[in-house]
Amino acid sequence: MTLNSTPDIQLGYDQHSRLSEYGRLVYPVVSRRSGGLSLGINLNPDKRCNFDCVYCQVDRAGEALLLAPDLAQLEAELRHWLDALAEGDYRGYRLQDIALAGDGEPTTVKTLPQVLDLLLALKREYRLAPEVKLVLFTNGSGLERGDLEARWKAFHQAGGEVWFKLDYWDAASLKRINRTRLRFERLIDTLTRFGQRYPVVLQSCFFRWQDEAFSLERYTPYVQLVERLSESGVTIRKIQAYTLARQPAEAAARPWDDDEMDRLAAELRKRLVPPVELFYEQGAEA
Ligand code: SF4
Repeated sequence: MTLNSTPDIQLGYDQHSRLSEYGRLVYPVVSRRSGGLSLGINLNPDKRCNFDCVYCQVDRAGEALLLAPDLAQLEAELRHWLDALAEGDYRGYRLQDIALAGDGEPTTVKTLPQVLDLLLALKREYRLAPEVKLVLFTNGSGLERGDLEARWKAFHQAGGEVWFKLDYWDAASLKRINRTRLRFERLIDTLTRFGQRYPVVLQSCFFRWQDEAFSLERYTPYVQLVERLSESGVTIRKIQAYTLARQPAEAAARPWDDDEMDRLAAELRKRLVPPVELFYEQGAEA
């Protein structure tokens, strides 16, 4: 399929189309968390991840594409969408960000430094407004890679933001929720060192696990961890608190209802300094 034969993409807050089934790396999505149109980049079409979150909403049932994130292909796809957006919007939606997200962990991808260079160059060339963010969604595992170090300053100066996944609070919850062999201390140390230098957004998924009852006390250790991060000099731009919106990896993971999310957000706002944005199962807070 050529870029000129783009499939008929459904855009809307309830649509989550990926184009990876067409061998594509870039997909437009209208996202509540971005507040409009986001150009998503799927750097992990092979669907590999070094976490195995119980709530993961990546569909791994189908065959994974053994598609390397080829830089020339990525550049061609990005140019296709940026050309389409040259008039200012696409189907009535204005571009809010270009987001490295997709079906796995972007910081495990070898060519990530070159991808960051490409994004900075395209943002300059297309004269994208300063408010158009470059967003890296990450579980943080590869943030301290030596070959990324030289890029972070320019990335942040160009409106780049790192959105760090944090929905655990100790070694046991990391093992239970995210099912990774990576160590809790290592991930938190990485977040601390990185967040002391550059502001981060925390992305935290809250959900019912195995019929447990909702309780605010359950999240006290999360609150304490975020407090410790702030006290140690980490700049947290905001916390995005969300629950499940799509079919998760494990059926025993189910969304908290709107009332439970309201109570949780009220507690986080009472106890924590960073702003809290709330996303329900069916949408965002008005
Ligand atoms: S880190 Fe993200 S992609 Fe990886 S398993 Fe967790 S939710 Fe899925």
